[in-house]
Amino acid sequence: MPEEVFICSPFFGRYADQDGISDFRPTHFKGESEEERSKQFVVAIEKLLIKCSRKPPLERAYLPRCNFTTEVGESESNCEALSQILFRSRTFTDGWIVDKTQEAVIMLSADCPIVAIHDTAKNRLAVLHASYKTVVRDQSILMVPFRFHGFSPDHVTVRVSPGIGPCCYGVEHYPVMKDISYVCAVRGPREGQRSVDLQAIIKQQLEKQGVPCERITTDALCTACYEADGKYRYHSHCRDGESAGRNAVIFWLQ
Ligand SMILES: [Zn+2]
Repeated sequence: MPEEVFICSPFFGRYADQDGISDFRPTHFKGESEEERSKQFVVAIEKLLIKCSRKPPLERAYLPRCNFTTEVGESESNCEALSQILFRSRTFTDGWIVDKTQEAVIMLSADCPIVAIHDTAKNRLAVLHASYKTVVRDQSILMVPFRFHGFSPDHVTVRVSPGIGPCCYGVEHYPVMKDISYVCAVRGPREGQRSVDLQAIIKQQLEKQGVPCERITTDALCTACYEADGKYRYHSHCRDGESAGRNAVIFWLQ
């Protein structure tokens, strides 16, 4: 039975926000023109893909253009080719579905957990940008694969990548959750604000949809405060602000 696999790796590309839209504008690369810097960005992503390589190698990777929507794409015709293997959605979409073992989905994130839902019966994989804004709303992005793309809660396994933890993530107004480990964020710029546990919210929503809790695997490392060898392991928008780098999260079927 094929299984989904992922890596979550600090990726040193940065986006510059323009007009409030997180767009594909890598700023830390040293090329003289934007075109040159974009090429360097693509090369850096392709190197990451090679890291994921196995036999047969990944042939195609989709990079959705996230903007806090609940859109989930799957049609290649909605993409532009950034290279022979890297495809980026033309419109804003915060999730992507693949169904071939040679295809991957890449998300660049700086605190938001990325959720991969694998329908093992149909062998389809949905990868979703599970931010506060895409999950805590009338229709959560987590429901979209089940309601509109034929995923069955009886046949899925779910992996959740590291994201910001309840230790560091708070908002001014949020109801206190039951059985929480933090009432308020205890460190960083959000310290003292009402704690939000995105990983717990993701789990609750999926269980409500009918996914058995034992099928949900969460990587609970906090992107804002987890350290390894005396250094922060991940990029974090909450911690580093607008200049934060992004973590590349890549999921694929194998
Ligand atoms: Zn933390």
